Amino acid sequence: MSIFTSRDFDGHEAVHGFHDRKSGLKGFIAIHSTALGPGFGGCRMWTYESEDDAIADALRLSRGMSYKNALAGLAYGGGKAVIMGDPRKDKTPELFEAFGRAVDRLGGAYVTAEDVGVSVQDMMAASCTTKFVSGISGKTNGFSGGDPSPRTALGVFEGLRAATRIGLDRDVEGLTVAVQGLGSVGYNLATLLHDAGAKLIVADLSDDALKRAHRDFGAEVVMPRDILSADADILAPCALGGVLNAKSIPHLKAKVVAGAANNQLATSKDGETLMKHGITYAPDYVINAGGIISVAAEYEGASSEAEVQAQINEIGPRTQSLLKEAKRTGRPAAEIADERARALIGHGPAERAIAAE
Ligand code: NAD
Repeated sequence: MSIFTSRDFDGHEAVHGFHDRKSGLKGFIAIHSTALGPGFGGCRMWTYESEDDAIADALRLSRGMSYKNALAGLAYGGGKAVIMGDPRKDKTPELFEAFGRAVDRLGGAYVTAEDVGVSVQDMMAASCTTKFVSGISGKTNGFSGGDPSPRTALGVFEGLRAATRIGLDRDVEGLTVAVQGLGSVGYNLATLLHDAGAKLIVADLSDDALKRAHRDFGAEVVMPRDILSADADILAPCALGGVLNAKSIPHLKAKVVAGAANNQLATSKDGETLMKHGITYAPDYVINAGGIISVAAEYEGASSEAEVQAQINEIGPRTQSLLKEAKRTGRPAAEIADERARALIGHGPAERAIAAE
């Protein structure tokens, strides 16, 4: 197993392995950068086929968190934890308490929260053994915090609308959006889109989610293999990474792609391919920052919902600024976003004003 020569290694500051014999916990924490503050990012539980796959995911996701936090104007670096296991079968409170101890041993260099396969309840178990955790609050006065997914969806919705204004010169009312994945974020996003007057085409692996979407939104249901090429104006990938690739892009009918999934582009070249196909792409980590904004606000003890909402609303203008520059310069938006993020990481504390220019 190689780390420093892996193609996903990007000058990461640290990769820690952790193990707890009693609970069966096994996984990794990758810290990409602490230049702007402690590495902050969720914990994913997944049935990785190998340790190499788990490490590669932690490397990619922690770099994404560095970029996401920097562009969101947060005073945090990028970190991510991955737990090797099946979230449907292998979860116990003891496993997440052991995970909390692994986070705690890093002394605050990494702060954790929920990601795919990990719930508020799991993070509550981790909070028994570490204070470097967020996404659990449920406070009744001030900012409630807790599950970040609804706020991730709000940010994606703002970013999607901004991208639609640039790419199609109108708002989403009356347009058709194909939503891939109706999980914690996808379902909330579908609700916002339906309320805004968009028509929906949906796919998921869960029949229950599809039935609900059909009943609540009159959504058209298609097979998972058909969602990327669905006859829609906008595509919102809200399930997996790597869905925008050399094979899928030529079949996309949507002229705007804006969704929640992390690492949607299989390679950086795919950003250029999207552009060549005349597709406006809102870079994933720019528009899915609502969740980290929420957990960071909770961690810092934000005083009101309005304060956090205002920060999430900035995702719209930030996306617009990025896409306008992409249009003006003829460069892929993802490349410009990476460049802006790297400049922020390399040049001291992030300033919200810069990211939202
Ligand atoms: P989730 O696990 O709740 O939902 C994912 C959904 O996708 C599930 O319903 C699953 O059945 C479905 N799915 C999986 N494979 C599919 C396929 N091939 N076709 C159609 N549907 C499929 O996860 P989530 O929390 O909603 O996150 C979704 C994505 O957004 C992930 O990539 C995650 O990293 C990213 N993200 C989430 C948050 C957050 O706050 N939860 C924040 C930022 C980014």
